[in-house]
Amino acid sequence: MSPEPSATIGVVGAGTMGHGIAHVAARSGFDVVLTDLSPPLLERGLRAIDQEMQRAVEKGKMTEQARGAALGRIRSGPGLAALDGADLVVEAIVESEAAKRSLFSDLDRHCRPSAILASNTSSISITRLASATKRPDKVIGMHFMNPVPVMALVEVIRGRKTSDATVLSVLTWARAMGKTTVEVNDFPGFVSNRILMPMINEAVTALMEGVASAEAIDTVMKLGMNHPMGPLALADLIGLDTCLSILEVLHQGLGDPRYRPCPLLRKMVDSGDLGRKSGRGFYDYTPAPGA
Ligand code: NAD
Repeated sequence: MSPEPSATIGVVGAGTMGHGIAHVAARSGFDVVLTDLSPPLLERGLRAIDQEMQRAVEKGKMTEQARGAALGRIRSGPGLAALDGADLVVEAIVESEAAKRSLFSDLDRHCRPSAILASNTSSISITRLASATKRPDKVIGMHFMNPVPVMALVEVIRGRKTSDATVLSVLTWARAMGKTTVEVNDFPGFVSNRILMPMINEAVTALMEGVASAEAIDTVMKLGMNHPMGPLALADLIGLDTCLSILEVLHQGLGDPRYRPCPLLRKMVDSGDLGRKSGRGFYDYTPAPGA
């Protein structure tokens, strides 16, 4: 049976991705519960949804009435208790297997037995996350792209024990959110990051070796290869900590030295330069004085 379009979707983690998933789900008519460990980051995520929808209204892509209705469908709270009525929970916390396994074990205890638990992980094994629960048939990868309201794709990743019914429900919900789905198997980095991250890593290595400036590297890839964004600007958008974590999963999971994270990427993460979310990465995002 296909799932009710009136389902409730829980989102755990209100950062770059989680707030975007909550935005799109609410805008598509789902009831949404958004949670985050950090109350200030939860507030920041809610503010970002409000501002993004405001911009959509200004651009004529959404009516003021639809904005009010979508915002009214979002509930939020700091703990997992609010997720007990969710039909689908999408996890979008930090890209750390230990943190995600611990959360999946907690979600398994808090959520109703019929609930599907999805991870927005960029690279981590869905099969391993599923093994932290007693419902591996209901655990799946639901990999949205950044920025979620803009990007059309959701990579749907089937773990070793994911059931056909779970895959069908998630495909139906993702399409109800206006997304195009692609089914992939559970390998490190899936398709998207297995191909994207080595390119970003190579761009960082070229910068470190002095082949060209960040602007020059990005311009070559934009104008020469027709990429909408250069790889270094894209890394800043994704978050350099997230890029490093994904490369570590690829390096460890595939055992090939070609995935070794570039030392410059590691150094930038160690120094707190994480890209847009921290205000500085390969480029500076601090607002101009008076802006
Ligand atoms: P982020 O750092 O912007 O946000 C993570 C949020 O999770 C933070 O607000 C943090 O407070 C919260 N959090 C951490 N641990 C938590 C816990 N135990 N319970 C509740 N909340 C917790 O990260 P992001 O960029 O949104 O990435 C989230 C996930 O999405 C990662 O798995 C990442 O790999 C994946 N992803 C990221 C992108 C991207 O471009 N950034 C794209 C696709 C997928």
